[in-house]
Amino acid sequence: MTALIESRIRAIPDFPKPGILFRDLTPLLADGQAFAATVDALARIAGDFHLIAGIEARGFVFGAALAQKLGKGLILLRKPGKLPGETIGFDYGLEYGRDRLEVHRHDLPKGARVLLVDDVLATGGTAEAAIRLLVAAGATVTRAIFVIELADLGGAARLGVPHDALVRY
Ligand code: AMP
Repeated sequence: MTALIESRIRAIPDFPKPGILFRDLTPLLADGQAFAATVDALARIAGDFHLIAGIEARGFVFGAALAQKLGKGLILLRKPGKLPGETIGFDYGLEYGRDRLEVHRHDLPKGARVLLVDDVLATGGTAEAAIRLLVAAGATVTRAIFVIELADLGGAARLGVPHDALVRY
């Protein structure tokens, strides 16, 4: 099944900036068998948890599918200015730029055991920000899982929680 998943990941050179090799998951999402195999594989590495937190935007796609499969709730970690309620946020550096993540302060029950889901672990800045946010909101992050890990960028070292990925480059 990993071969099927890998075969549906497209590498786009110099997107969105020169020097970035972008790993495009839209062919995988467009292939029902490959998408289902990906969600099944994520379920096998998910471990024990209460709630899923997905990172905008592609983390929502995989996080929502996994939450539905496992009968769990989903927390949205969003780009700034999208959430209508009281938020807490965290600024971070990307492989290509800077950004900020926010979460509704009251969406997470205190002490919730949360599984973090995103599409790609690159420098780890995004996932690190997500983990800090979740901890600031009173959650425990049990594990962070990704479809892809760009291992050369060393993002795993920034997480401070167990992590796993389906495909490593
Ligand atoms: P980072 O904070 O550097 O770990 O970047 C992770 C986030 O940026 C993920 O949410 C990805 O969607 C996106 N991203 C970063 N680098 C790439 C890449 N080379 N290909 C695809 N997505 C990427």
